[in-house]
Amino acid sequence: MGKILSSAHVHTTFCDGKTPAKEMAGKAYEMGFVSLGFTSHAAQTFDPGYCIEPSREKEYIKEIRDIQKEYEGRMAVYLGIERDLYSCSNPSDYEYFIASVHYFEKPDGTYVGIDADASDLQKYVNEYCGGNGLEMAKRYYSLFTEYVTGSKPAIIGHFDLVRLNNSRLNLYDEDSKIYRDMALESLRAMSETNALLEVNTGGIARGYMTSPYPDDFLLKEWKNWGCEVIVNSDCHNVKLLDAGFDEALEILLSLGYDHVVRLSSNPQKGMWERIKI
Ligand SMILES: [Zn+2]
Ligand SMILES: [Zn+2]
Repeated sequence: MGKILSSAHVHTTFCDGKTPAKEMAGKAYEMGFVSLGFTSHAAQTFDPGYCIEPSREKEYIKEIRDIQKEYEGRMAVYLGIERDLYSCSNPSDYEYFIASVHYFEKPDGTYVGIDADASDLQKYVNEYCGGNGLEMAKRYYSLFTEYVTGSKPAIIGHFDLVRLNNSRLNLYDEDSKIYRDMALESLRAMSETNALLEVNTGGIARGYMTSPYPDDFLLKEWKNWGCEVIVNSDCHNVKLLDAGFDEALEILLSLGYDHVVRLSSNPQKGMWERIKI
């Protein structure tokens, strides 16, 4: 089985990551990575501990550009962001962005985290979805579909993130036809944008999940549609730069995938490259 030696989804101390960007790049280089994409949580007007402070956005861009120069010709470094639906940053300031939905907006203009505190999400379901977990999932996929089809990101971030709190709250049956059809319909619409679907190992790396996002049935269909995947660690801690990659590759091989996409090792030849697995 091949090695990926790259991650296009990496957080640092510019947002909620634990490792400074320079240290992260140093470790990636030491591990033999051929490419690395920094993707701090893009600036937003709420939940400030989680994202780049809007006043530090320029500093982030400069720091990643400096690292890019430092490793030129040795490891390809890219300036990206993970841009939430409710972020206020401009994607065109970056080389690429990952589109993710981490929040619901409440009618009073405040937000509730989808992958944050389970009891807050349960309250949201009770108050705004009539106590119906499937209604919450439907809302998530509909927001996400609209975001991806309207903004055309390079990467679809942790597609079925609703699974995280469902594993704690048991809000709906993930094997039910109604849930699966809703997720597949959303994924089908996103496939039209040619975005890469991320196989995100962050949840297993941090011990929250037993398998990567997205679920196997979604990856299977994605392959049938002839679309491409990228394996990312969603790393918040340098120790977990490639955590879960072997598990992800095993799953992809078992589903019939024979290659994945990664950030290009040679930016002159383009931003993305395919590698055999
Ligand atoms: Zn995320
Ligand atoms: Zn992330």
